[in-house]
Amino acid sequence: MNTPNPNVCPTCDSRNTGATFGWEPQRVNADETILTGVGFACHDCDGQWMAHGFVMIANRKGGAPSEEAQAAFLEAMSRAGELRIEPIEDEEDER
Ligand SMILES: [Zn+2]
Repeated sequence: MNTPNPNVCPTCDSRNTGATFGWEPQRVNADETILTGVGFACHDCDGQWMAHGFVMIANRKGGAPSEEAQAAFLEAMSRAGELRIEPIEDEEDER
């Protein structure tokens, strides 16, 4: 069984992907925010998907995260639950 990897496109297996938005932003300090649940998009096939339970540190300045952010990251991980990838369809009219 494969561990889901949100950095790989579930449609075309491309690694040419990027995070586009995050859910549940939890501010750590002026530059760092913890995101729990992140949306990704593929640059090759324009696919989009949601990584539920995926925690990341958004750092406006770039570089290594602070100790404060790493501690918040670990705490968010312990609450995030299982990682689950869910494709986002383009057609939203059935919701
Ligand atoms: Zn793709």
